[in-house]
Amino acid sequence: LEIVVNLVQGSVFPQWDARKIGFSSRSMLKAIANSSGVNSGQVEKLWAKKGDLGIVVDDLIKDKKQRTLFSEKLTIKKVHNNIRKLAEMEGAGTVDRKIGLVSELLTSASPKEAKFIVRTILEELRVGTAEGIVRDAIASAFDKNVDDVEHAFDMTVDYGEVALLAKENKLGKVGLKVGRPVKLMLAILVKNVEEGFESVGKPAIIEFKYDGFRIQIHKEKDKIKLFTRRMEEVTKQFPDVVEDVRKYIKGDNFILDSEAVGYDRKTGKYLPFQNISQRIKRKYDIEKIAKDFPVEVNVFDVLYYNGESFVNKRLEDRRKLIEKIIKEEKKKIVLSRMLKTEDVKEAEKFYNESLKAGNEGVMIKSLEAKYKAGRYVGFMCKLKNILEALDLVIVGAEWGEGKRAKWLSSYTVACKKDGNLVEIGKVSTGMKEKAGEGATFEQLTKELRKLIIEEKGKTVKIKPQVVVEVAYEEVQKSPTYTSGYALRFPRVLRVRIDKPVSEINTIKDVEAIYKMQRKGK
Ligand code: AMP
Repeated sequence: LEIVVNLVQGSVFPQWDARKIGFSSRSMLKAIANSSGVNSGQVEKLWAKKGDLGIVVDDLIKDKKQRTLFSEKLTIKKVHNNIRKLAEMEGAGTVDRKIGLVSELLTSASPKEAKFIVRTILEELRVGTAEGIVRDAIASAFDKNVDDVEHAFDMTVDYGEVALLAKENKLGKVGLKVGRPVKLMLAILVKNVEEGFESVGKPAIIEFKYDGFRIQIHKEKDKIKLFTRRMEEVTKQFPDVVEDVRKYIKGDNFILDSEAVGYDRKTGKYLPFQNISQRIKRKYDIEKIAKDFPVEVNVFDVLYYNGESFVNKRLEDRRKLIEKIIKEEKKKIVLSRMLKTEDVKEAEKFYNESLKAGNEGVMIKSLEAKYKAGRYVGFMCKLKNILEALDLVIVGAEWGEGKRAKWLSSYTVACKKDGNLVEIGKVSTGMKEKAGEGATFEQLTKELRKLIIEEKGKTVKIKPQVVVEVAYEEVQKSPTYTSGYALRFPRVLRVRIDKPVSEINTIKDVEAIYKMQRKGK
């Protein structure tokens, strides 16, 4: 069951699992050639013509089918097993064995089966991660409450496991597991301190809002693992953080929530997220980049400690625990700066202090709230100093002109509306032309090129995966885009490689900003 659930989401592993299938299109050409009896040159020609190896294999096997009869019937287990082995095989001489595993599957597959096997292995299955649909399907299949299914997913980030739990009537028993990432608590945007107090009650905990990226820290005995908010494991990229966690945080096992923020080694001043973002995906020269771009970890919450779950305890009590277990070491691991207050003036003073220290604003948190994954009124708010930039996903682009001809340089961006995506504008500024600080056209083109779904003249359609933070002067009504809104003077602030598409802004956020502007006028 869990295999089927993962496969319908286009993967053999749960979302948080760092294993990659890692089978190249080149190798696939060979596997297709082996199993269809057509030589690789020919397969390559067909590939160039059709642009999709899934379609190529479908056609080829249909032809072959008419000539031969088929031996073994494939089972889901068999398919899953072979694909899993692809991800696990390492070292020299494995390429041929991998091609062998794939050829074996394709030889026994019907044309349709082959098409989907090929796309699954190349990680090009275009079913998207329609999480809401998988959630609803599990609820309906086992007659469960949708909220309970979703809650189990927040804790496990694995619909395969959730399906099993639902089937066995164990959804209520789902718990945190150290070493497996969890969905994190998110914040609601407020305009001012008063609105923050209104949402979370008084007194509240006000904290610096650091402009870094979220890290969940897991420790089980000697094993420490770090995950982003996107559930990607980044332990290898941050050996410095692992070392500091070992040194400065007491406890046999725990799960902590924190924000890692970059600082300038010389001046000690905080740096915007952009400067350290390259560390998240880095695979080589890790020690060097850790030295050049150091981060300070600001711990602000605890979900689990020494065998006990803390998610149902009050924030104030969770805060007391982290104060006890962390030995603060400046520029390495510290507690988030905080103030407990019910006074608007005091809170505003603290907000200004935070801005002066180079932060984006403050978080306003309820003393009483338990730790709840997702974005809910009454738990946690964020107050920032600029008109909130929007996190949007790129769904289309255009090849540039003149000196920009080799780049995709104008991006169509979209927000969410009832689980779908609706377009809200085109953005072509904010990106850098030369390497240095910030994202460049070249980098973004490299990312987007892999995601092209359709190409017509200079315009391409892009599989929605790359999230960008877009600033603008104003939100306007507009018939041009499917959202009914457009952004005036949009510019890309940064590429949010840490943010999943499921968490981009919604049409509701856009409407709220639109209304807020009108009130302002
Ligand atoms: P959002 O992601 O939209 O909910 O905005 C809140 C983000 O601010 C979190 O995801 C964290 O990455 C970041 N952050 C920075 N400082 C803090 C803090 N003290 N408490 C919670 N989140 C923080």
